[in-house]
Amino acid sequence: MIVRIIALLTIMTMTVPSFSQGNPSSDKLTSSAGIIEMNFIGHASLMFNMNSFIVYIDPVSSMGNYNNMPKADLVLVTHEHSDHLDASLIKSLSKPETVVICNEASLSGLPSAQAMKNGDRKNINGIEVEALPAYNIVNMRAPGQPFHPKGNGNGYIITFGDKRIYVAGDTENTPEMKALKNIDVAFLPMNLPYTMTPSMVADAAIAFRPKILYPYHFGNTKTSEIVDLLKNTDIEVRIRDLK
Ligand code: ZN
Ligand code: ZN
Repeated sequence: MIVRIIALLTIMTMTVPSFSQGNPSSDKLTSSAGIIEMNFIGHASLMFNMNSFIVYIDPVSSMGNYNNMPKADLVLVTHEHSDHLDASLIKSLSKPETVVICNEASLSGLPSAQAMKNGDRKNINGIEVEALPAYNIVNMRAPGQPFHPKGNGNGYIITFGDKRIYVAGDTENTPEMKALKNIDVAFLPMNLPYTMTPSMVADAAIAFRPKILYPYHFGNTKTSEIVDLLKNTDIEVRIRDLK
């Protein structure tokens, strides 16, 4: 009898894991319009799925495994750097009705996309998208030349039902970010020299108080630092595989 149970358990454990192999990890968030599944593909690449409406942010093939990923309904590109813009992957994730939104500088690589400037808003199938500034204040490529000049890149607030998800793009703790209100989930970049240190991320988070914070685009930055910096706040810091 015991032998039969062990044999059965062995068969069960053998058959289960292969099903999900290669899929990105994900968290679920309940909104008034449905459950939002937030998939963490890697670095700055994310995918949100609400009621099978699929939104990709900065899909880049080298950041994860796209073999089993669904086609896109909406693609948002924050800016033209190669860890954010991968035109051939966007083409392979697209169907005829896919809407692609990007900053103006990405348009040359994405001829069928629609550009949004900082401050623009669009509604796509009931999902509100707002473009926000994403830029460096202190981190410079050379004196006077920020890695991300103001006015070029976008962050996006995506509103699903009653939930507002902010994906910041490559930016620092700008005054515009610190003035945000009613953000449920924030994805903030945390690596040098291109974006923020953990203390810059903490400064921004303490100012606009997202309910949930995911540091992303963090490279080799120690994620325990941001957990420590925000441990006495009501901000829930979640570390996921978003190096
Ligand atoms: Zn960049
Ligand atoms: Zn980047």
